[in-house]
Amino acid sequence: MSYPSARKLRSIANRAAYASAATPVATRRAAYLAKQAAWRVAHPLLTPDRHGQTREQALQRAEGQGMMCPICGRDFEVTRAQAQQGRPVDRHQDHDRHTGRVRGVACPNCNIMIGHAKDQPEILRRAADYLEGFE
Ligand SMILES: [Zn+2]
Repeated sequence: MSYPSARKLRSIANRAAYASAATPVATRRAAYLAKQAAWRVAHPLLTPDRHGQTREQALQRAEGQGMMCPICGRDFEVTRAQAQQGRPVDRHQDHDRHTGRVRGVACPNCNIMIGHAKDQPEILRRAADYLEGFE
């Protein structure tokens, strides 16, 4: 999927912004959204995700963890330079489902595992005990 360039989106937004004050609300809203979209295209690392964290914050958090999943130790396999060029980091922001607070950056498998265990350590301990019962 290709997106219009930031310049093109700014052009659309500016044309709409300079229209008369009688511009319908829907048009002004569309211009506002186009301007926001242009900003996001121009600042990919500063665009907040659905947890309110920017990619830059997620990248810093991942770097603080040694660019690896804190649970399984899997390498995120991306450098800062690659991430800054737009390459996605194969990781999920692990967050507390009740408070929304971001706890860390985990690989997709581990983050899903935590979610399936309903964020309850006791379920994960019982799962470990269950597995060890077959060794
Ligand atoms: Zn993991």
